[in-house]
Amino acid sequence: MAKVAFIGLGNMGGPMAINLLKAGHAVTAFDLSAAALAQVKAEGAAVATSAAEAVVGAEFIISMLPAGKHVLGLYLGEQGVVAQIGKDALVIDCSTIDADSARNVGAGLSAQGIAFIDAPVSGGVGGAKAGTLTFIVGGDDAHFERAKTVLGNMGKNLFHAGSVGAGQVAKICNNMLLSILMVGTSEALQMGVDNGLDPKVLSDIMLKSSGRNWTLELYNPCPDVMPNVPSSNGYQGGFMVDLMAKDLGLALEAAMHSNSSTPMGALARSLYVAHQRAGNGKLDFSSIFKLFEKKAG
Ligand code: NAD
Repeated sequence: MAKVAFIGLGNMGGPMAINLLKAGHAVTAFDLSAAALAQVKAEGAAVATSAAEAVVGAEFIISMLPAGKHVLGLYLGEQGVVAQIGKDALVIDCSTIDADSARNVGAGLSAQGIAFIDAPVSGGVGGAKAGTLTFIVGGDDAHFERAKTVLGNMGKNLFHAGSVGAGQVAKICNNMLLSILMVGTSEALQMGVDNGLDPKVLSDIMLKSSGRNWTLELYNPCPDVMPNVPSSNGYQGGFMVDLMAKDLGLALEAAMHSNSSTPMGALARSLYVAHQRAGNGKLDFSSIFKLFEKKAG
């Protein structure tokens, strides 16, 4: 079993660290929030008073932080973390951040002789708790193989997308496509309803026709078409609009950087940001359906 330092024990990091503890790894945790630390301490984690203290002697250092600036600050900032990381340790950042920040952290650590991979996840809080996350890794083959020791205890599907930063690129390509499919499915379903169709019948038809896609199969955005999905539960739970808006911002930044044309992604971002600004940020991302619904009056 491995000695793991885990930094960032929020909605995702907390349950991920608990799954490592359940698998028998020795986890030392650090978070700025005492409440977040208390949860993993109760499950058997050791608690450090700083990130620099947490990483001492760790074979794997895993971070799960909000955004690129937090990850850059942790590894390349003034906290003195790098000086405490052993030369044989593997740093795994699971946060969703811009690919450039991931590459900068990778280069900064590499200059100190420390190995790094980016390993953003898909699967949400439910997947983090169940240990069924998908990890999308950017980094060297050997580091990917080594990371399986711990990633396999937190996730079910482990993909190697390419070199450092590639995990972040693959993740935002996927989420950009997902948002486009969600918007398209929502407008098609509402147009059917507006023209007298039952959304359940229309969904069944499209599921067997060429409009079939993941949102229709597993995550129908129209309320009461499908049981056990956020749309049938007031759009509670699932993947928040705030996080989809964040990921679409990262996708558009990447597109600008590579001079890629992403008109559908740009429109999806605009729609999700408008939806977020209208006060729907904490709802599941399938709530974009509400944008197309006909209101009474
Ligand atoms: P969160 O806000 O619940 O947790 C982040 C944690 O990091 C907090 O506990 C915060 O106190 C801590 N933190 C911030 N700066 C720190 C620092 N310098 N040192 C130590 N701790 C610090 O966020 P989350 O929902 O767990 O998301 C984490 C990452 O996972 C994000 O990048 C997010 O985009 C990504 N993600 C989230 C989901 C989801 O459904 N929540 C799904 C996929 C990916």
